[in-house]
Amino acid sequence: MTTRQLAVSVAGILVGGSVLFAQPAVASPPAQVGPVGKRPVAEGYGGAVATVDLDASEAALGVLRRGGNAMDAAVAAAATLGVTEPYSAGLAGGGFIVYYDARHRKVHTIDGRETAPRAMAATSLEGIPFDDAVTSGLSAGVPGSVAQWELALRRFGTLSLGQALRPAIKVASEGFTVDQTFHDQTAANAARFKDFTSTAKLYLPGGAPPPVGSTFRNPELAGTYRRLGREGGDWLYGGRLGAEIVATVKKPPLTPGSTRNARPGLMELSDLAAYRAIERPPTETTYLGMDVYGIAPPSSGGSTVGEALNILEALPKVGMHEYLEASRLSFADRNKYVGDIPGVPLKELLSDGFAKERACLIGERAMPNPAPAGDPDGDYGPCRAASPAQETRTPAEGPETTHMVVTDRWGNVVAYNITIESTGGNGIVVPGRGFLLNNELTDFTFGPAPGDPNLPAPGKRPRSSMAPTIVLNDGEPVLALGSPGGSTIITTVLQILVNRWDLGMSLPDALAAPRASQRNTAQTQAEQGFIDRYGPELTSRGHSFTPTPEIGAATAVEFLRHGRLQAVAEPTRRGGGSALVVSERR
Ligand code: GLU
Repeated sequence: MTTRQLAVSVAGILVGGSVLFAQPAVASPPAQVGPVGKRPVAEGYGGAVATVDLDASEAALGVLRRGGNAMDAAVAAAATLGVTEPYSAGLAGGGFIVYYDARHRKVHTIDGRETAPRAMAATSLEGIPFDDAVTSGLSAGVPGSVAQWELALRRFGTLSLGQALRPAIKVASEGFTVDQTFHDQTAANAARFKDFTSTAKLYLPGGAPPPVGSTFRNPELAGTYRRLGREGGDWLYGGRLGAEIVATVKKPPLTPGSTRNARPGLMELSDLAAYRAIERPPTETTYLGMDVYGIAPPSSGGSTVGEALNILEALPKVGMHEYLEASRLSFADRNKYVGDIPGVPLKELLSDGFAKERACLIGERAMPNPAPAGDPDGDYGPCRAASPAQETRTPAEGPETTHMVVTDRWGNVVAYNITIESTGGNGIVVPGRGFLLNNELTDFTFGPAPGDPNLPAPGKRPRSSMAPTIVLNDGEPVLALGSPGGSTIITTVLQILVNRWDLGMSLPDALAAPRASQRNTAQTQAEQGFIDRYGPELTSRGHSFTPTPEIGAATAVEFLRHGRLQAVAEPTRRGGGSALVVSERR
């Protein structure tokens, strides 16, 4: 047991040498916030779900109540998010799943990340302004979600793809109620949506965003899901739907008179036929005696959260200063070493020796910016400053995706990030099919950047920050969590863990608490509430802040004692999320 474990155990309950259920230091917000039926916190038994959206949470709950398992429910919810949160998620996107298999007490991950076409080169994005690249055929990666759903259901589910798509088909056909978030996201995208005939027709009916409170139907997407259910993923990966995607990417359906330079993409049907979702070993690190599992490359989520936790564990105390500094150092290392390349030094990045070497750079004051990357070479000294020549920077990444957690009566757990990258993806709906294409390839470094592990290459997956995370204690789940937010995903997951375990907040408080995100930049992005709460002390220690309205939109589930589950979503960010349990009583 480390000094830190001892310190925390005073405030918590010590089980088998590790701390569980630290007592909340701050009162939880009321469970009932937001519209009726949409609650950010739910407690009960027999399974639970948290997503950003009531329709999606209800889709998952319905599957659980009809006897489906957590993976069945997660796919059903993901497809429903493709209807109700179409600017964050969809069948033409990608994502990462972390899955706890209760029967075998084993954690698996499924990489459904979009992939660069074979014609993509290191220079393909060079010199293109970021926003121009986003809204183009060039940014669309080979979609991963459908292959990921099929693999996830085949390996761990009980439903067929067609069965799992049914709740989404119902919502797409019958419609959902437009809320403020959907309206605002449509309005924020209107200038580019109107440049594509297919997108304007679907999302700007009558030339304007659908009003709040109206019913939005997407019969074309319902038809697409129906046929996908019948024909399976082959319809996309080499079949007719794939051919339509390729045609749209190569010749975006520009509105007559539009002056937009929507660059054509490089995707071919053969790229779709070659796509595979991949089962990969999770990243693993221990924190305060618990085992924290995450996503390995091509995401940097697992390695960066894990490294930061190891750094924190090597420090004598943990507060917000230490959280920011550990995050700064981990981002320096992520930027230099992590990408979809052979030879990422994952074992060393997650080693205690490397963490100790990095931790001893953290002092009483904020480090000068930028922090250089360390040397994860297996040879660790007591305190070694890295050479300034190894400075790295954190590239721009879009801010939106979505995350869900699902658990079932058997104790299986899913933490799942699904995304189309920017809010609204590349802005281009495939004509007649009711879904947007992703712009995931803008997650690559545009270059020129010699040696950067995240430059584009044929068939390569862009580095992600998505960090669905499952925490076990003695092989049993304790917590599952994740968030959207581009590169702030990593800091949001880290901050929630610090809030929960180090500051002793309840899980609802740990999610609701104001956030900050330090990613090896001079200024730390922070919500105003964070600046109000921690700003004076942190500023006196050399930190400076850029206010930002909102960071992340997390979902989580905690496994309380005696089978009780606590599902948690955001009380207010992105309009608040939806947590549901199968049964409120045992
Ligand atoms: N494209 C992002 C990533 O993979 C996720 C979407 C987002 O939240 O920006 O890290």
